[in-house]
Amino acid sequence: MNKISIIVPCFNEEEVLPAFYQETRKVVSTISDASYEFVFIDDGSRDHTLDILRLLSYQDAHCKYISFSRNFGKEAAMYAGLTEATGDYCVLMDADLQHPPKLLPDMYHAVSQEGYDCCAGKRVGREGDGVLRSFLSKSFYRVIQKLTHMNMSDGAGDFRMMNRKMINAILEMKEYNRYTKGIFSFVGFETKWLEFHNVERAAGKTKWNIKSLFSYAFDGILSFSTAPLKLSGILGLLFLLISACLGVTAIFHPKTWLIVTAIVVFLSSLQMLMVFILGEYLSKDYLENKKRPIYIVREESSSN
Ligand code: UDP
Ligand code: MG
Repeated sequence: MNKISIIVPCFNEEEVLPAFYQETRKVVSTISDASYEFVFIDDGSRDHTLDILRLLSYQDAHCKYISFSRNFGKEAAMYAGLTEATGDYCVLMDADLQHPPKLLPDMYHAVSQEGYDCCAGKRVGREGDGVLRSFLSKSFYRVIQKLTHMNMSDGAGDFRMMNRKMINAILEMKEYNRYTKGIFSFVGFETKWLEFHNVERAAGKTKWNIKSLFSYAFDGILSFSTAPLKLSGILGLLFLLISACLGVTAIFHPKTWLIVTAIVVFLSSLQMLMVFILGEYLSKDYLENKKRPIYIVREESSSN
């Protein structure tokens, strides 16, 4: 019999955890051909989250938890959950019921019967999120799509069920600065998308503020793109062009200020181009250091 691991990162979720557990258990226990386990990750909560998890694991053998020594962030919690999970399939879910449990049977059907490696929820609408956050998120996904050439669209979050092959590929990516949305896209595999409507969190407060969202966005770009390092190259070329124009003008109108400006702009462009070359070496080394797999196999002939 197949087993589904439900991985739930929790940071100060005492208000919503009992409701999450009740609702999700109700849905997942209707899947007749699979057993299940809950893997809760207490990400250094400072409320009664850990007490609730202790009680759940005491009362229900389907529940296990690990508790971090401090808050390491959702990315670390998801990695820990995938490492601890023993299921043939894993699904990542937020504790606040923003990821509707009612999708679980369809997700399981897609990965166990329809030949998909992954079935992911795609959120449509951002009603619960506020105007500023919606606008910033949309702009961010537009930028990151351009910079990384990877498929990371707005609404495609972490809510997804994956098979062992895909989970193992994700666990092979051992980089410290994790940006899981990028990692999903990097490892590839066949994904089915299921749309769901955005809802406000059932209880408790979001853990994100504008500052943490900006740093998350920055991490995302830096983890998967070295494009910002190329900026100095573009500026260098631009300055070189300007200095050439100034130089030509100075030939016909030999004024001291024009000659000096042309020389200064020319030297600046040289510096920027040197920084660009350094950046090129640095970006190669940066990506090398992540030690990402060079290829990932999806299928091979059975004789292998
Ligand atoms: N979370 C976590 N560690 C953190 C921040 C968040 O484990 O440092 C968990 C949180 O408990 C929730 C999920 O990540 O289960 C999503 O967080 P939240 O609902 O605050 O994010 P939002 O839905 O507002 O993007
Ligand atoms: Mg939420």
